[in-house]
Amino acid sequence: MSEKLNRLITDLGERSTYDAASQCSRCGYCEQACPTYVATGQESKSGRGRNQLVRLMLEGKLKDPSEAGEALSTCLLCGACSTACYAHVPTADIVLEGRRMLRGKSPWLAKMLTVLLGRAPALLSVLLKIAYLLKRAGLSVLARPALRIMGLRGLAEADLHVDELPLRFLYEELRQRPNAENPAWLYFAPCGPNYLYPRVGLATVNVLGNTLGSGRFMDNNCCGLLSYNYGDIEDARVLAKKNIARAEALPGESAPLVGDCSSCVAHLKNYPQLFLDDAAWKERAEKFSRRVRDAVEIINKSEIAGPKPEGVITYHESCRACHGQGLRASKEGLTRLCGGSFQPLEEAEVCCGGAGAFSFTHPELSDEVLRRKIGAIASTRASIVLTSSTSCLIQLAHGLKKYYPECQVLHLSEFAVEILSQNGAKTRA
Ligand code: SF4
Ligand code: SF4
Repeated sequence: MSEKLNRLITDLGERSTYDAASQCSRCGYCEQACPTYVATGQESKSGRGRNQLVRLMLEGKLKDPSEAGEALSTCLLCGACSTACYAHVPTADIVLEGRRMLRGKSPWLAKMLTVLLGRAPALLSVLLKIAYLLKRAGLSVLARPALRIMGLRGLAEADLHVDELPLRFLYEELRQRPNAENPAWLYFAPCGPNYLYPRVGLATVNVLGNTLGSGRFMDNNCCGLLSYNYGDIEDARVLAKKNIARAEALPGESAPLVGDCSSCVAHLKNYPQLFLDDAAWKERAEKFSRRVRDAVEIINKSEIAGPKPEGVITYHESCRACHGQGLRASKEGLTRLCGGSFQPLEEAEVCCGGAGAFSFTHPELSDEVLRRKIGAIASTRASIVLTSSTSCLIQLAHGLKKYYPECQVLHLSEFAVEILSQNGAKTRA
């Protein structure tokens, strides 16, 4: 059985997982906020249902704990239920604890990725480049049936969803750039921008340079979210410790640590939860997480203002920004940035169904959630939808191509840097 956290940070303070799950009074107020409940109408696929299942598992009252497997594995971990809940019951963290109870060893694919990300990123880069070259040559299509037969349906779906195939990764570019001795900011490169969307990371660095002054690249490790969600807690701790030590060793003691994938940023802010039984590391994690900022926060506060572009621009809130960090792109900021072309999105805070690897592991349910999101985007007649996390970028690009190709998805940083360059600011690709 993989290790659990056993204690969680809740609105009422630190609690055992059992006490956290028991904070749920079963009022059902969160039901309509839960995308999987709305899509299926099944109680076991709601926040309330999932909290009760984990509680029963902890009480040893579930005759066959594997009965909970389907309910827990289909949770998007979006956190919308916690936002809707008056007690802010941390359902996503409770669900993860339930999954850890059910799981034997960490799945080999997650384990392999975690090991590569944490201990051999250079080897991971080589393997990814080989995979990208195969996909560019059209050979990955041939591999999909074999992957499905081998039980690696998630990999086959990932190949279907992911179109961006950079052969020069973000860290390779940023290592070539000069670093400020006295940085006003430190850029944390999440794996999404690093290995899939270097254009996003480069845009964020440009925005930071233009709004805060000169800074530096952290040359960080993976944040550890993959291990936290799918692998071993101990691996997540190892990665968190490396990043904390890295930030402590760099100049700019009080400079903000800025990341541009809201999922990773939410996890960085959540580092203290990994060390509730280790006072020294908990203190270091708290100091680290207080410095962490989402690129959305920087752009929200900036004065970047654009001329009115053609067409409508709308905004999808990443779950891990709005529910995970309590952070929303401000309407005034978006209106200023989009030059008055901004049109708010209905249900902007509802998950798009991406949710990390969810769209690869549960393609049918994910597509059901996605169709509702694309329908809302289409009803604004937008030609551009902005967002702030890698998973949303992949999922929305896939959904727009399929259901509403008149629209494209961009990261907020990419749009901001476009406005900066239109305004004559010095930007660098
Ligand atoms: S998680 Fe919160 S809102 Fe949902 S049923 Fe429990 S107490 Fe009610
Ligand atoms: S985290 Fe999202 S999918 Fe999971 S129970 Fe809560 S609202 Fe539903």
